[in-house]
Amino acid sequence: MLDRTAQTPVLVVGGGIGGLAAALALTRKGLAVELLEQADEFKEVGAGIQLGPNVFRMFEVLGLTDAVKKFAVFPENLIMLDAISGDEVTRIPLGEGFRARFKHPYALIYRPDLLNVLLEACRKVDLIRLHTSQKVIGVEETGDGVTARTQDGRSYAGAALIGADGLWSTIRQIVVGDGKPQVAGHITYRAVLPTTEVPEPLRRWSMTFWAGEKVHFVIYPLRGGELYNLVAVFHSSRYEEGWDSFGDPAELHERFAKSCAPVRLLLGKIESWRMWVLCDRPPIKDWSRGRITLLGDAAHPMLQYLAQGACMAVEDAVCLANKIEELQGDFASAFKAYQAARYLRTGRVQIMARVYGEFYHASGVARELRNMMLGGRTPEQAFESMEWLYGEDTSPTGYGRVFEREGAR
Ligand SMILES: Cc1cc2nc3c(=O)[nH]c(=O)nc-3n(C[C@H](O)[C@H](O)[C@H](O)COP(=O)(O)OP(=O)(O)OC[C@H]3O[C@@H](n4cnc5c(N)ncnc54)[C@H](O)[C@@H]3O)c2cc1C
Repeated sequence: MLDRTAQTPVLVVGGGIGGLAAALALTRKGLAVELLEQADEFKEVGAGIQLGPNVFRMFEVLGLTDAVKKFAVFPENLIMLDAISGDEVTRIPLGEGFRARFKHPYALIYRPDLLNVLLEACRKVDLIRLHTSQKVIGVEETGDGVTARTQDGRSYAGAALIGADGLWSTIRQIVVGDGKPQVAGHITYRAVLPTTEVPEPLRRWSMTFWAGEKVHFVIYPLRGGELYNLVAVFHSSRYEEGWDSFGDPAELHERFAKSCAPVRLLLGKIESWRMWVLCDRPPIKDWSRGRITLLGDAAHPMLQYLAQGACMAVEDAVCLANKIEELQGDFASAFKAYQAARYLRTGRVQIMARVYGEFYHASGVARELRNMMLGGRTPEQAFESMEWLYGEDTSPTGYGRVFEREGAR
């Protein structure tokens, strides 16, 4: 534990899942944190998010497990069907065998509930000061610290700064300067539906997805089964900067025209979809400069096909706090050690998310092969293929080391 409470705080830019998790992780090591969020309130999109067992290991470190479990749904299976034939391709059971192997559950949660769990935990910590309506537009390193400047002309002094400001990160442009993220050519439409509107045979207590040709469709329960989360993804060259606009149902129905009846039925239930233009970046290994570093999507934005962006951000937070403690508050060295511990793991997820995207959207021979390969697996073989992501020991990724240190306490 570091005794730095009387000293300058660490600045965290961005109050999403990554930024709030970082604030919590740092204060658990005795550091004070000043968190600057550009929006006028802390907010997440009204949709679901999947949580792998790897992030539950981090929730345990952060003391959040019970609070998250209170809001989460624990699905029975991950089910994949072919979107054209409607046939089941594979089903991975998430019950006893899964939990015995990975020691933690797989969960589905409403994003605002997850953000609130993090936010409430932060609000209970005296060492954290949360500021809204503070858009950071510049950062300068001073001899022994950093100064962040905001759009409204304020400046905040910190011992170091963590850019947790997401896909369109301002801090990344200061540290890495590699321009805009890459547009994947995939578009996501998201909506939630009251359970009463989901036809009964389709109300599975599972994460169910239909994989089609250049499309896929996901549905899963949220909030104790009160809501269902619907996610439709398709290839499109349509591009709108940012990711917060409304989708066009006509385009959606056209892209899914070849899909089986249950998919078309569910798509028809939603009148108003929110649209995201999916982007990522190729992995990099250096995302720190002196006393400034990045975390979460700012450091390693990825496509959503492994459902891991937020999980990786929370893993980053725990690892970063450990490294600062290990290096006794030498921020520049700690930031180098943190990225060295993380870049292979996060890079692997970035790369594999792209591969899975191709796999889910395969057509022709690739589609046949996909169905044959996945369909032929036993649950144990499926678990084995997930070991690198969900398992406890994943050297050389640094993830195992994050856990070991905490576990040793
Ligand atoms: C369709 C879709 C499905 C997904 N599904 C999953 C899933 O199932 N599981 C999973 O783990 N991940 C999933 N993800 C990924 C996940 O949503 C992101 O990886 C995660 O939210 C990133 O968190 P973050 O805190 O790094 O960034 P963000 O959530 O983007 O937060 C960044 C914050 O910084 C603020 N900000 C930005 N610029 C500034 C500035 N200059 N000054 C101050 N504040 C600023 C923003 O307002 C925002 O609050 C999915 C993503 C998509 C698009």
